[in-house]
Amino acid sequence: WSAKTVAVVTGANRGIGFEIVRQLAGHGITVILTSREASAGIEAASVLQELGLSVTFHQLDVLDKSSIEEFCDWVKEQYGGIDILVNNAGVNFNIGSENSVEFARMVVDTNYYATKNVTKAMIPLIRASEAGGRIVNVSSKLGRVSGKRNRIENQELREQLNDMETLSEELIDGMMCKFLEQVEDGSWESGGWPHANTDYSVSKLGVNCYTRLLAKEMADRPDGEKIYVNCYCPGWVKTAMTGWAGTTSAEDGADTGVWLALLPDQAITGKFFAERREIAF
Ligand code: NDP
Repeated sequence: WSAKTVAVVTGANRGIGFEIVRQLAGHGITVILTSREASAGIEAASVLQELGLSVTFHQLDVLDKSSIEEFCDWVKEQYGGIDILVNNAGVNFNIGSENSVEFARMVVDTNYYATKNVTKAMIPLIRASEAGGRIVNVSSKLGRVSGKRNRIENQELREQLNDMETLSEELIDGMMCKFLEQVEDGSWESGGWPHANTDYSVSKLGVNCYTRLLAKEMADRPDGEKIYVNCYCPGWVKTAMTGWAGTTSAEDGADTGVWLALLPDQAITGKFFAERREIAF
């Protein structure tokens, strides 16, 4: 890795994303800090620039297709391409309230669909290299398909999601559609969805499944053009998302993401991590 290495981090004006930028740039690479609100991003980037870090800012609202397009054009023009993408932007409206699904569509759109859209738009910009491109998705243990405590009840769907032969984008998208349909018609509570942080858990289950699926697709690429794709849970982190109630600092929450982005071992792909250790999906 060198100053020529370029990383992009989404939702990086605060919280874990900001820390990921700081730590990546601390390794001497060039980092593009993105945020949906330009003023917040510019301010965040200037804090890091004052520390002498190679950080630039560009606006990116992951929900806005034209913002994604404009960002990709700018990256191409300024840098030619990138080496690392960290999908960190996310929302959760459950904290401090009942298990609300009032904002379920926005949660699923931001955490799952936008992660997928940004990734698809950026893959053509990920440069071919010996080290391989890297994609890191910031996810959550709440979205585990095999977890005992907060999983979907439908065993057949669980098995299909957990089997690389049957896992597909249609299957994941279909699950999201069904969930949102049930939210809309009010039947979600008896739908067998995760019982805690329901909409957020379903959205992160989608992120985890998509990580695996994409990793498999990218593994078929010829040597030199491979992209290694992993996801991780940062723990329960003291950020705005948890109302600062977490037990982990943003610095520690960023650690595994930065480690995955810079992993020297190219063989690691399609895995789920927490505290630098592999965990089950
Ligand atoms: P924060 O709420 O502090 O940060 C979330 C970031 O995402 C903000 O920068 C926010 O921007 C940005 N964001 C939201 N929507 C969009 C959008 N449409 N376009 C661009 N950026 C957007 O939370 P965290 O730092 O805690 O969360 C970071 C990631 O970590 C998320 O994916 C979250 O799900 C995940 N995570 C967090 C955990 C925790 O305990 N905190 C636990 C497990 C996972 P803005 O400032 O404009 O709102």
